[in-house]
Amino acid sequence: MSSKVRAGVLSALLGAALVCGQSASAQQEPDWSKVQIKVTKVSGNIYMLEGQGGNIAASVGEDGIVIVDDQFAPLADKIQAALKELKISDKPVRFVINTHYHGDHTGGNVPFSNAGSTLIAQDNVRKRLETGGAAGNGGSIKMDVKPAEKAALPIITFEHDVTVHLNGEDIRALHFPSGHTDGDSIIFFPKNNVVHMGDDFVRYGFPFIDVASGGSVQGMIEAMEKATAQLPPDVKVIPGHGALSNLDDVRSFTKMLKETSAVVQKALNDHKTLEQMKKDKILTPWAKWTGDFVNEDAFIETLYNSLTGHKGEFVKHN
Ligand SMILES: [Zn+2]
Repeated sequence: MSSKVRAGVLSALLGAALVCGQSASAQQEPDWSKVQIKVTKVSGNIYMLEGQGGNIAASVGEDGIVIVDDQFAPLADKIQAALKELKISDKPVRFVINTHYHGDHTGGNVPFSNAGSTLIAQDNVRKRLETGGAAGNGGSIKMDVKPAEKAALPIITFEHDVTVHLNGEDIRALHFPSGHTDGDSIIFFPKNNVVHMGDDFVRYGFPFIDVASGGSVQGMIEAMEKATAQLPPDVKVIPGHGALSNLDDVRSFTKMLKETSAVVQKALNDHKTLEQMKKDKILTPWAKWTGDFVNEDAFIETLYNSLTGHKGEFVKHN
């Protein structure tokens, strides 16, 4: 695809300024007025909201509303309206849990916190929002992340896990270290048997792994294997991006991560350079996973950098 289209996909997915060769003017800001929020009932009182950016999970009930992730600031009013239209609760969104710090999952933090929601996230989410910095796969995917304003910062943070007791359910956020980033949480709704995976599990093809923000493929594999082993076999899975899924989808995603990692590890053991791996097209057997966001070469870079601990050069923000 053209670099302009890719830049648009990247910025839409991450809500971050791109610094990898494309000028800022080449980025396509989505036309927010055209974005519609699609609401799907997942199970019991749990809903999935799709608009632009990461999927939202919502627990809507007698005590009020908890949402997991909040997409982009310009969509906050539409998200609030979509939740009201369910006519289940006239109570507000009391809590927002962020699965990780990327702008397509936390972009609505300011309007939601200004409207009275309490933001909750893992410690590293607050740290990375506060400082900003560079996101990327250590190679061709690089993004400049500006420090967030105070209202965007989670008020309650946790190291390993936290439980929100609301709407008759013990909603559990569990941190998995170093997967998509170093601040990822998976959120489980045990009574309704629904899980929101954050961006440790996505449906757009090869995943973006933010190696520059402490992510790694090894951690992503570990998170998915642990989660798959612990969750009920029939749990409904909300991915960070893409359609509602099940654990078989997670397993085939994990299998792909393990197989492609093994191929890159073998090439490393054979002393192949990154350029050789790309030239040899070593991921061609997994070409069906090539997506608009992360193509084969970008995923080779991701795995290479993940397995060698290379995080890419530091990118300064203005
Ligand atoms: Zn993300």
